[in-house]
Amino acid sequence: MNNTQTKGYVGRFAPSPTGKLHIGSLLTAVASFLDARHHQGRWLVRMEDLDPPREVAGAADAILRTLEHFGLYWDGEVVYQSRRHDLYQAALSRLQQNHQVYPCYCSRKTVLTEARGQGIDGAIYSGHCAQAKPAETPDKIPAWRIRVPDQMIAFTDAVVSGQQQNLARQVGDFVLRRADGFWAYQLAVVVDDAEQGVNHVVRGQDLLLSTPRQIYLQQQLGYTVPMYAHLPLLTNALGQKWSKQTHAPALNEAQREALLRQVLRYLGLGEAPAVDHVSELLLWATGQWQMPKTGCLSIITTDV
Ligand SMILES: [Zn+2]
Repeated sequence: MNNTQTKGYVGRFAPSPTGKLHIGSLLTAVASFLDARHHQGRWLVRMEDLDPPREVAGAADAILRTLEHFGLYWDGEVVYQSRRHDLYQAALSRLQQNHQVYPCYCSRKTVLTEARGQGIDGAIYSGHCAQAKPAETPDKIPAWRIRVPDQMIAFTDAVVSGQQQNLARQVGDFVLRRADGFWAYQLAVVVDDAEQGVNHVVRGQDLLLSTPRQIYLQQQLGYTVPMYAHLPLLTNALGQKWSKQTHAPALNEAQREALLRQVLRYLGLGEAPAVDHVSELLLWATGQWQMPKTGCLSIITTDV
């Protein structure tokens, strides 16, 4: 269970199959691919399909075909989070045995009305159920929350440098398993990165504020903390992150060379030379690769 592998770079791209890839997700995929290949590392693909109501039938396969179309070939088998329930349950059981987690029977309404302030991710949970005795709990399925410490969690990000967060004051005890039975992203991503030996995480800055929670979980589960690099987000003309919700257009695969050149420019690699085939662009970029350095939460506006 405890993965102590530190030799050899292992990176990953972990999309949610909620729609087709767009320019923002292509940027993340290309950057994590180039960072892995530049370091002669392995590059894994993991489908984060933990939230069926948000998923779109066929999206996972469409994402994989698009990656191949752009020459972004991954190593090993694609991992699907929806098939890894036992791994997440084993991690939760370890935390249960150590009394680091507790069942929470609060409704969403209770959480909101009893909140002890607004945190980075909404209302900060009051801790109502942290002291509750099992006899007091009603006959329903609880969520499971982890107790968090009143201390700073700090890490150095390869893009945005020093980061720190106090989980008790800015986040509160957070959910690992939801009352509807679904696994929370924070637990699944930590278990998967450790189980897959991932030691370099390159992803978008929308996940920067989740990272201290993940580091805390890694520490509690005895996992090695990976290196993190959080890339600037591509936004539309309204300053919104490109996503399904902001109607990011699907990539036009007939334009793949132009799109790839554009992504390489966004990543600070400049103008790529003329090539006969798109795969040569990635080879060139692998040689040129340097992780972009930017200010915290910087954005790039694009009308693609
Ligand atoms: Zn509760």
